[in-house]
Amino acid sequence: TQHPVSVLGLGLMGSALASALLKAGHPTTVWNRTAAKTGPLVAQGATPADTPAAGVTASPLVIACLTTNDSVRELFEPLAAELSGRTLVNLTNGTPSQARELAAWAREHGIAYVDGGIMAVPQMIAGPGAYILYSGDEEAYARHRDTLAALADTKWVGADAGLAALWDLSLLTGMYGMGLGVAQAYALVGSAGVPAKDFAPLLLDWVVAMTQGIVPGTAEAIDSGQHLTDVSNLEMNLAVLPNFTETLAEHGVSDQLFTPLRALLERAVAEGYGADGLSRMVDLLKAPEPLR
Ligand code: NDP
Repeated sequence: TQHPVSVLGLGLMGSALASALLKAGHPTTVWNRTAAKTGPLVAQGATPADTPAAGVTASPLVIACLTTNDSVRELFEPLAAELSGRTLVNLTNGTPSQARELAAWAREHGIAYVDGGIMAVPQMIAGPGAYILYSGDEEAYARHRDTLAALADTKWVGADAGLAALWDLSLLTGMYGMGLGVAQAYALVGSAGVPAKDFAPLLLDWVVAMTQGIVPGTAEAIDSGQHLTDVSNLEMNLAVLPNFTETLAEHGVSDQLFTPLRALLERAVAEGYGADGLSRMVDLLKAPEPLR
């Protein structure tokens, strides 16, 4: 069955979301601060709203996708009365605290609030591999879940509205770590004139193989509290670190990324965790003060 939906915020992501809803046959009302961005969606069958208030009142389900939660507050706070009795699904990237604050504001005004974290780029929306994390008002989520499923797979993470942002930021953290490691690898090998495309297949296979071991292996170590390793221990990793930093220096490549790695390895060994594997870093990162 088709359900009316409003989408406010038609940037790269908001436009992809509205387009997916239209393709799934949902009557979709759209609004954007810069009105011209409604054009392509209207051509796909969307109804343009002249004002944000008209956008909100057109549907029981209102999806927001703006740049930041500051812009969300700026746009929706004056529209609390119009939003009352409706569901606001906020797919804007933000912090757990911001999501909780928005949830508290929504509760005061009789608005059902669901926060979401989009784990996809616009081109992946409504396609394989894309999913959206949701948290907050579970009853409203359950009511609209079939409609939201037109955007991407849905993953409910809990009634604390901040959880979707927490999971989202944690996943992105993994991406940044991997992405910076990849950038460092290309910078080093490229400093010797190796074309990136020649190195890419090896780097891909290596990163995939290591990730397949590290991600589940670290989870197992955390849950069992057993960090001793027969794979690669922290004391050895500290001992060979100069091989990296000296080579980087000799090749005129920055060792900026290795500065925090060195500090963490030194701390791990100083605190007596030299025989442990990389999974021990989780404890160190969770406790900025010495563990013992
Ligand atoms: P864009 O910069 O393309 O779009 C931003 C949108 O926010 C525009 O519609 C803009 O309106 C609107 N906006 C900003 N400030 C205000 C305001 N004060 N009042 C009203 N509207 C406002 O960004 P994206 O669409 O790429 O991203 C949107 C959100 O989705 C972000 O939080 C982003 O982190 C998240 N996201 C994006 C992903 C991506 O790959 N693009 C992936 C996952 C999440 P106007 O057109 O008038 O400027």
